[in-house]
Amino acid sequence: MKYHVDGELVDADEATVNVRDRGFLYGDAAFETLRAYGGEVFEWEAHADRLRETCEVLQLDHGLSDADLRSRIDETLAANDLREAYVRLSVTRGVQPGKLTPSEEVDPTVVVIVKGLPRGGRNSTPVWDGPATLQAVRTQRVADRAIPSKAKTHNYLNGILARLELRATGADEALMLDADGHLAEGATSNLFFVDGQSLKTPSLDGPVLPGITRDVVIDLARSEGIPVDEGAYTLDDVRTADEVFLTNTTWEVRPVETVDGLDTEGGPVTTLLSKLYDERVESLYD
Ligand code: PMP
Repeated sequence: MKYHVDGELVDADEATVNVRDRGFLYGDAAFETLRAYGGEVFEWEAHADRLRETCEVLQLDHGLSDADLRSRIDETLAANDLREAYVRLSVTRGVQPGKLTPSEEVDPTVVVIVKGLPRGGRNSTPVWDGPATLQAVRTQRVADRAIPSKAKTHNYLNGILARLELRATGADEALMLDADGHLAEGATSNLFFVDGQSLKTPSLDGPVLPGITRDVVIDLARSEGIPVDEGAYTLDDVRTADEVFLTNTTWEVRPVETVDGLDTEGGPVTTLLSKLYDERVESLYD
């Protein structure tokens, strides 16, 4: 496998970064997780926009164009002869004099990591083993005023601590709440549930990453005439919901079978949105 590191394609085993890199020292870096279907990066523009927003939050002026970043991804896919892939693109603030305050001069470290996945689209096999078991955790989602939730940075300790709480039960995903007890999101996924006829998801006013899959699913639901409410919800709302599912780039639409050990029935809305998502992906192969 070849990875892209600072403009060079290198063997995965030799793909290293400097131990003084701020991405390593402090998590001072922006990243995106993407999927390639049939050699095409899904929702590239949305990912490029979110990466730009993360860099704005971090005041990280890396000086690279979206086209340059995209071509590093394309070169990595080509070098590995991969058309179906997980892609991770990271841009760190690089190596700087040893102090916490960042300097404006940035020599960024840019890394692209890829991994082969099954073909997506119609009749595809999802990357997950089965519907998810979801568990509410004590670890709060970090407040937006502490680390802006729209920023996708290398700092994932919040999600890691949440996932560590699952060790006792073996649940698949940790459901984090905000400081007021409202539902936020999973460690690496956005939450949706169906209540009566409408689809509900925690609003981006709370500490929630604006997931690209979340956006696609909201669009698909609205285009089918399914009302979508983005609001402030409680654990009881999701525990008593008719259907629950999670979204992220790799999982796509993943049904949830239990919330805190209580059964949630899978259902028609999840199945429909999953099918529509697959069709959207399938269009990349045409
Ligand atoms: N929330 C968090 C905290 C995440 O890490 C992810 C995965 N990037 C998501 C939501 C889902 O985002 P996306 O649909 O863009 O993959």
